[in-house]
Amino acid sequence: MKRLNKKWIQPLRWIVQTCFMAGLFVAFVHPQTVARWPLWTLLFVGVFFCGWVCPFGTVQDWLGWCAVKCRLPRFKVPRHIQKYLQFSRYLFLGLMFWGITFSFSNAPFYFQNNLMHHMLSWASGLTLTFFLIAGLFCDRPFCNYFCLKGAADGLVSMFRLISIHRDNNACIHCHLCDKVCPMNVSVEKTGFVRHPNCINCMKCVGVCPKNCLKYRLMRIHLNKKYVKFPKAL
Ligand code: SF4
Ligand code: SF4
Ligand code: SF4
Repeated sequence: MKRLNKKWIQPLRWIVQTCFMAGLFVAFVHPQTVARWPLWTLLFVGVFFCGWVCPFGTVQDWLGWCAVKCRLPRFKVPRHIQKYLQFSRYLFLGLMFWGITFSFSNAPFYFQNNLMHHMLSWASGLTLTFFLIAGLFCDRPFCNYFCLKGAADGLVSMFRLISIHRDNNACIHCHLCDKVCPMNVSVEKTGFVRHPNCINCMKCVGVCPKNCLKYRLMRIHLNKKYVKFPKAL
């Protein structure tokens, strides 16, 4: 199978992320407007906001990139821990629905507010600092385990129409897709990526040596046996 050149995906993603970040600095982009990312996009293609727009996600990506360049040790949470730990942000979301709120758990928007209006409470400041330092040693720790918006959007995105499909016949089970995924999704084990953690960063698509990860319309394949849902969900 001819391998398509997908090297443009990550540079394009970085350009989009940088544009939104620059927009925040010069106040072209209003945090509340960015926060109101349209719901229909979640139902259509899943969570693009987190992978391509969110400034706090962008900062975590940049820190990860710097850490790799500086050869800092990087860790991935082992699968047997991840399968439980991935629910932490839903725990915070559930507590919020029960009326227990954490001012510091909305760090992305405190972050944006801080950039624009220099407002940052000590609690959100401490949380941001902790997760920014943690971001030097593992991929997107805040997004993976703490973010309420990411958790809520991820749940809605499970009903998306279009998602990444893995061609099981072409797959050589090299696990490269699992290794590059910043959100610890087990791409190699699934037919369609429907996991609520997926942020559509397309790193898995770009790295696949057999070009067997492609965006497809879910309903075409819904009746086929290789459609699997994440085991932990
Ligand atoms: S999970 Fe939260 S912090 Fe991470 S990119 Fe999404 S909205 Fe931003
Ligand atoms: S990178 Fe491609 S070939 Fe390798 S396990 Fe993932 S889907 Fe299969
Ligand atoms: S599954 Fe692929 S697109 Fe989704 S977060 Fe992981 S690497 Fe990015």
